Amino acid sequence: MVTHLHFDHYAGVSVEKGGAWEPTFPNAVHLIPLRDWNMPDVADARAKGDRDVTTTLGVIEKAGLVRLVEGRVGITRGVYVEPFPGESPGHQILTVASGQKRCYCIGDLYHTVEEAVEPGLVATWTDRDTLVASKVRFASRASRERALVLSGHMDPGRVSVIAGTPRWKAV
Ligand SMILES: [Zn+2]
Repeated sequence: MVTHLHFDHYAGVSVEKGGAWEPTFPNAVHLIPLRDWNMPDVADARAKGDRDVTTTLGVIEKAGLVRLVEGRVGITRGVYVEPFPGESPGHQILTVASGQKRCYCIGDLYHTVEEAVEPGLVATWTDRDTLVASKVRFASRASRERALVLSGHMDPGRVSVIAGTPRWKAV
């Protein structure tokens, strides 16, 4: 699954071999958020044949490996993707559940510890209100579940909400 269509989160879907681009995971169906696929900059880049897109998303699209998703989508028992938008319109996270244990791959819901502990602190390119709501919703759930949290740009950790304030503990 691809959390969102920012280049640093999808560049790895293809690999160059002898001058040609191939899917990195040729047997994988790639779950990509529909809302990100339709973002103006992504749609524009695809329409114009932008090299960064044709050599990555274009490769898996041509190979029939793209599945555009919206909402919560199950992958297998205990494994599913779910929207937590704001970083991008379709930003989604992955849940891996085993018994009572939970692990979340949250993409860019948090880039830094500061963003984890201060829900109002968000990057300039985000949809602020949507992202703040996603962060608050996520922190309360992950705290209750004592979940392991894996961000795209941080060391693993756990978030716990104490008296309404999120705290972060590296694992
Ligand atoms: Zn990122």
